[in-house]
Amino acid sequence: MRLGVEAVLVDGALVPGDLELADGVVAGVRLGRRGRGIAVPGFVDLQVNGFAGVDFCSADAAAYRRAGEALLEGGVTAFQPTIITAPEEDLVAAMREVPVGGMGPRVLGAHLEGPFVSGEALGVHPASARRDPDLALLQRLLDAGPVSQMTLAPELPGGLELIDALRERGILVSIGHSNATAAEAHQAFDRGARTVTHLFNAMRPFGHRDPGIAGVALAREDVFVQLILDGHHVADEVAQVVWRAAAGRVALVTDAVAATGVGDGDYRLGIVDVEVRDGVARRADGVLAGSVLTMLEAVRNLHALGAPLAKAVAAASSVPARIAGSALGLLEPGAPADVLILDDRLELRAVFVGGKERVAA
Ligand code: ZN
Repeated sequence: MRLGVEAVLVDGALVPGDLELADGVVAGVRLGRRGRGIAVPGFVDLQVNGFAGVDFCSADAAAYRRAGEALLEGGVTAFQPTIITAPEEDLVAAMREVPVGGMGPRVLGAHLEGPFVSGEALGVHPASARRDPDLALLQRLLDAGPVSQMTLAPELPGGLELIDALRERGILVSIGHSNATAAEAHQAFDRGARTVTHLFNAMRPFGHRDPGIAGVALAREDVFVQLILDGHHVADEVAQVVWRAAAGRVALVTDAVAATGVGDGDYRLGIVDVEVRDGVARRADGVLAGSVLTMLEAVRNLHALGAPLAKAVAAASSVPARIAGSALGLLEPGAPADVLILDDRLELRAVFVGGKERVAA
């Protein structure tokens, strides 16, 4: 099957031609026959708390299906449902509901954001449920469902051993909700942490003599950074500095909460009450509580800040896929045919998962 597009994003560049799919995978780019729109890889979101009225901390199978359909409509073809710090019984219950394959967008596994986070960088994570690293508790959480990423504070007692335990199990380690110093951040990256959760948010502030996690992550070329580009979590100038320091290793994440795609109102994020007003999600005390950002909006925002379109799309597809150790995010022959068709105004025209058209304009 050919998609009828005029160009295809391959290996970071737009190649004129049409994309051919066969048996659920990319067959190749066929030159000639002028079509409309561009084909790009489906978006991969490593941090989604909820969507379309659904909070993944308390979602059942039907809720996952609803949220999945809405995520597809925003161009997300693979994601990590993200479960924030909560009491153990809530985490276990949430993990049991995480679907394994077989649904709309692919589920890469859960992103456990906590509970091993710093009391000094909680953001809206509930202090009552925060825990110091505890390998027995970790094992109970891993036994409850598929975990693909954990966000943790490496400076906590036992933090480095926690990194070892996760790496041994092939789970991606991300530093976040952490007050780690630069030296502690280096130690964690040397020990196997590969990425940073929502750079600049809920971490030691960057200082010119105290660069913390953010400074170390931007300086080290072996570290990927994740950014919430909704216009609220970081200033535009900061996003531009991040991009200039780390283009190619910046992954856009949405950190979306249940309000996304629904509108202002009162919602829950795990056991936390969230108020969404004028498109900004906060706890009652004003602390930001995720976003109502879609990945398509994040890509448009990055492009508007000066990133070339192909690179902005890569920040939402091939880069997060690489962080997750997934073969998704590339339109190379043989790759899974998770494809979006965008028009020249960056409107989504169609969404394919595994070669099946799931959303049509
Ligand atoms: Zn967070």
